[in-house]
Amino acid sequence: MMRQLPVRLSPVTDELLSSWIIRHAAFYAVPPLAMLRHCLPEASSLRTTDLLLSDDQESRLASMFAIEPAIVHRMTFANVAQSSHRLIATRPIQVCTNCRKGHTEPTPILRSQLLGWYITCPLCGNQLSDVDGRKLPSPFRQYRGAALRDEKLLDDEAKCGIGS
Ligand SMILES: [Zn+2]
Repeated sequence: MMRQLPVRLSPVTDELLSSWIIRHAAFYAVPPLAMLRHCLPEASSLRTTDLLLSDDQESRLASMFAIEPAIVHRMTFANVAQSSHRLIATRPIQVCTNCRKGHTEPTPILRSQLLGWYITCPLCGNQLSDVDGRKLPSPFRQYRGAALRDEKLLDDEAKCGIGS
């Protein structure tokens, strides 16, 4: 049984697993990969952990962070089909200015910030801005209705047949 961390930070809504690990690493003043490997010695990168996590790895992480495995599962991209992985950015490309948690360092990264097909925040429906806080330039402002339908289509396709 994995020993639990003495101090654990609560994940924010829709936080990405690697973001949560990075915040713990900052708290314990260790490199993020060292933090991850403390629990999963075989892990190759934080990115891989976000994309592909086995049931066993999921439960070991859950045990160390004293949290439900289902919560760890929801923090990953396990609900995104392999064929859509190429649409997942490696770093945040957009932000919701409503939901941004700017008061802590490092700032939590939400899953939606890496999913290229999102143009609105899945939590509050606000239009997403680029990472500098500017509204994303909308070349299709007059096609907003259609764009929102496309967002839904891509989202459904990405999650097609995968229970989350
Ligand atoms: Zn939002």
